[in-house]
Amino acid sequence: MFRRQALVLVLLLATDLVAQEASWDYRIKPEQLGLPKGSVRTSEPFVTRIYRTDAVGSVLTKQPQGYPFTITKDYVLKEDEDSRTHQGVDFSSRPETGEKPTPLDFKAGIHGVVVKAGDGPWGTITVQIYDGTLVQYLHTLASHVKVGDVVAPNTILGVTGRTGAGVIHLHIQAKDKHGNAISPELAFRLGQKKLQSTEKPDKDLLEFDPDLYSPVKAKTVGRMVSATAEPDLKWVVEVIGSGGKVDLVLGEFFDYQSASRCAVTWSEAHPDDLRLTREREVKLKPEKP
Ligand SMILES: [Zn+2]
Repeated sequence: MFRRQALVLVLLLATDLVAQEASWDYRIKPEQLGLPKGSVRTSEPFVTRIYRTDAVGSVLTKQPQGYPFTITKDYVLKEDEDSRTHQGVDFSSRPETGEKPTPLDFKAGIHGVVVKAGDGPWGTITVQIYDGTLVQYLHTLASHVKVGDVVAPNTILGVTGRTGAGVIHLHIQAKDKHGNAISPELAFRLGQKKLQSTEKPDKDLLEFDPDLYSPVKAKTVGRMVSATAEPDLKWVVEVIGSGGKVDLVLGEFFDYQSASRCAVTWSEAHPDDLRLTREREVKLKPEKP
């Protein structure tokens, strides 16, 4: 009996793989969020951004007009500025290309249960997916859901806004169940799986400051900030199948800690899957001769 169940499981996994192998681009797409054509990805994880600081050099909770901003070339920090790298993904909120940012309905894009419904300094809506990972949608103007609601990818979750931000847009970030920031792309991918339990998450994890933590530090020499974080290497997390073949790419990270967390999260979420995960180091810059 167990053998038959195992066989069914293997077949299910195989079907799953065929579907996933067709697309190795695991980035979140605006259409998954139900956003119209004019809305595009505007900020990628790990880009360098400039923030205003107070008298003691701490980043201001409420950033003034024009801040934070993303730099595209090397930049000299002013006295009251500091640099951070962006850990989430930003989407613009425009009905059509070239039109003004407007509050728009957006969809969850994932299966989960609502654990925070749009309150707090960033208007955060938090959805917990099946393995305990928390996916957070920031800067919302309003929520169409309440705590405890079970959502599916097509559920209209809320309205984009500018709560805690300068411009109307949608920022998506993610935390694993231990409270560590993980790739939002990976969380979205895991969130395509249906919810099984609605175990309550730790209250402290429901919200986290989008500017507080990023695994990649901005590159600086004195007051000069480099436009790109330019890590020397990245870690690719893969699931290895028979014959050492890569069955799945789970994500890419700029530090080993995040990569190993990703691998552990995946393994814990798939206890019946005997395939191994591997964190592979990839050099991004050629070695100097
Ligand atoms: Zn953002």
